[in-house]
This record gives sequence, structure tokens and C-alpha cells, in this order.
Amino acid sequence: MDINQIRADFEILENKMNGKPLVYLDSAATALKTKVVLDALDGYNKKASANVHRGVYRLSHEATDLYESARVTVAKFINAKDAREIVFTKGATSALNLVAQSYGLHNLGPGDEIITSELEHHSSLLPWQNVAKITGASLKFVELTPEGRITVENFSSALTANTKVVALNHVSNVMGYITPIKEITKLAHAVGAIVVMDAAQSAPHIPIDVVDLDVDFLAITGHKIYGPTGIGALYGKFGLLDDMQPVEYGGEMIDQVDLYDSTYKQAPYKFEAGTPPIAAAIGLGAAIEYLGNLGWGNIRKHELNLRSYAEEQLSKIEGLVIFNKNADVGIVSFNVGTAHPHDMASIYDANGICLRAGHHCAQLLMRFLKQPATLRASFGIYTSIDDIDAFVAATIEGKELFDVL
Ligand code: PMP
Repeated sequence: MDINQIRADFEILENKMNGKPLVYLDSAATALKTKVVLDALDGYNKKASANVHRGVYRLSHEATDLYESARVTVAKFINAKDAREIVFTKGATSALNLVAQSYGLHNLGPGDEIITSELEHHSSLLPWQNVAKITGASLKFVELTPEGRITVENFSSALTANTKVVALNHVSNVMGYITPIKEITKLAHAVGAIVVMDAAQSAPHIPIDVVDLDVDFLAITGHKIYGPTGIGALYGKFGLLDDMQPVEYGGEMIDQVDLYDSTYKQAPYKFEAGTPPIAAAIGLGAAIEYLGNLGWGNIRKHELNLRSYAEEQLSKIEGLVIFNKNADVGIVSFNVGTAHPHDMASIYDANGICLRAGHHCAQLLMRFLKQPATLRASFGIYTSIDDIDAFVAATIEGKELFDVL
């Protein structure tokens, strides 16, 4: 994998921020967009800008073909055997809410249990909190290990015959550890529970195989896998999806409409009411193909190299604490002595470095880590060793200014 060639595909990296070369270390929040994605968006808008599934004219057929082949690309990306198992959504948040509202509200009741964890992004937790409040089901939390991992053993202790839903992340956006979801799914299925996996942070870093994992639902978001914003996907086993109620009603999701009742299309179309984000879906397909051409082996090697190098360099800084040592993906979460993360962020910003400071939409985890907020550097396919060196130098500069108590 030629890093310079990859960087050349991301035009934005030629820009400066605050007069300094741009160092983008916030790929876990959103990844930069590669040229093929921008071309795909442009291509649709310039050459095939018609609505899908509606027109009887050629341009609309072309748009529909592009949109539907993006669905096939997403299906292949996660090894789903049937493209009808892919619902296009706005992102991971709307995919997870779709399952909670459509499956959760209709299948859960008092006495039922939902297992989740303090590691969850708010998008994987709050939809189920809402389901619990409305249905009377209860939420249970897998006890995390002291270093913040979900283990099969701790999951087993939370699992009971009343468990109906398991809602867990594949990789946490703060800790970056891989959840042993395959083993968890086996145990969950043995008591008749379904598994909803938040793959927003695993999809950019590791190959996902829904057949092997056997999860029932899975959510991904396009902009974290180098695709456009405003597009994501829900995978669901077809039998489950097709039994579920739509969440949004309107155009394009109907079969027959009558005065007081209507019938709906099969999955996935009954979940895609209205005009979908056509260009974004096509752009997502292009991003997935681009990643596929790089190869997972190369991507993994590059990111783990960067992660070890960053960890090694940061460990030399006195008082700096890394909260997720040996993470499985390119995410480093840390704080620098008594320096407040937002003060540190101002130094990174002045040095042209984009880096996240805050609670990362994971307030339960901040409580677990006993931190009001943390810093997070996250790497992508375009991140270079020079980026890490600039980041480490700025960290030392920030420490000297702010870690003074
Ligand atoms: N889950 C995780 C683990 C995430 O990191 C994110 C994005 N920060 C989401 C879900 C939600 O993704 P989106 O905002 O694109 O819907």
C-alpha cells in the first residue's frame, strides 16, 4: 500500500489549517473523502440525476441501476447473501433507531431484558433506553473489564432466559477494542435473543462477515468508511426485516393504497419511504470499492503500525495516560496530566491538527474512565508517520503550557 499514492487521492490533504499543513487525526468522527467518491457524486449529479424506481425513461433507469448496484456493493462488503437485506438509511444512528422502533417497540414488553454496555455510543444506547421506557422492558449492562472490554464471560453473566435483545458495538469509538460478537451471538441465540451490532467503528478497519458473525442486525455509516455523509445502511436478516413494520410512511414504500389502509412493499423498500439519498448511496458504493482495492490486510497493517508508533511516542511523555492501550484499531484515547482536553485541542488546532476532545457521544464510558472528557486521535488509510510526529510534538507543546498543576 503506497501511502503517498493514497494521500494523493485525498485532495483535502493539500490544504492548510491555521497556516500549517493539515494533519487529520479525526477519522473516527468522519473520514476524509477520496477522489473516486467525489467523482461518483459528481457523475450522478451531472449525468444521471433522476429519481429512482419511478421514471419510465432511460435516465431514471440509469439512476436506479446505480443506486441498486450500490446496495449490492454494500451487501458484498459485509458478506450479506441477499441485497434485499440492506436498507439504506441516513447513517448508523437512523439504522439503529429503525431496529429499535420497528423491532423493539413491537416485540418487547414488561419482563423482557435488553443487554447493552457502558461502552456504547449514544446512538446504540439511547434508542434502546427509549424502547425500555415505552415497553416496560429492562436494560441490563455487561460489566466491563477494568481496561474497558466486553468479554464473553461477563456477557454470559448478564444473559438470562428473559433476554430478548442484545445491542452492542463491534468496536467502541473511544476504546477501539473488538467485541467478541460471534461468541456472544451464539449465546444470545441459544436463549432466543436477537443481536443488534453497531459496526460504525469496525467497518472502516476490519472485514465484516454477517454470515460468520450471524448477527441479526448491523448498522454502518458511510462517512466513516470514506464515503459521503447522509448515507448509511442497516443489514437485517431478511425474514426478520420483512416481518417488521415500516417506521416512515410515504412515497415509494407502498404496494396498494386504500382509503383507510395500505399494503407495503417487501423489505428493504418498505423502509425507504420518499426519495432516498441517491447520490450518497452511489458515493458509498464507490468508497467501498476503493477500500476493497486497497485490501484489508494492507489497511490493517498500516493502521496497527501507526497505532503502535503513536502509543510508543506518547508513552514517553510524562503524565500522559492512554486509556486504550493496545487497541485493535487506529484509535488512541488519552489525557495529558492535568491539562484539560479542550485546552490541549486549542494547541492541536493552532498546529493544523484535527483531533477530537470531548465525551465522544459516550458519556457512560467517560464515567467509567472517571474523566470529564478525553482526547482522541484516530487514524485512517491516509495517515502518515509524519502526521503522528506532528501530533506528538504538539502534545509536548500543550503539556508544557497546560499540565502545570
Ligand atoms: N456508533 C458509533 C460507535 C459511532 O462512533 C458513531 C459515530 N460517531 C455512530 C454510531 C453514529 O454514526 P452516525 O452519526 O453517522 O449516524
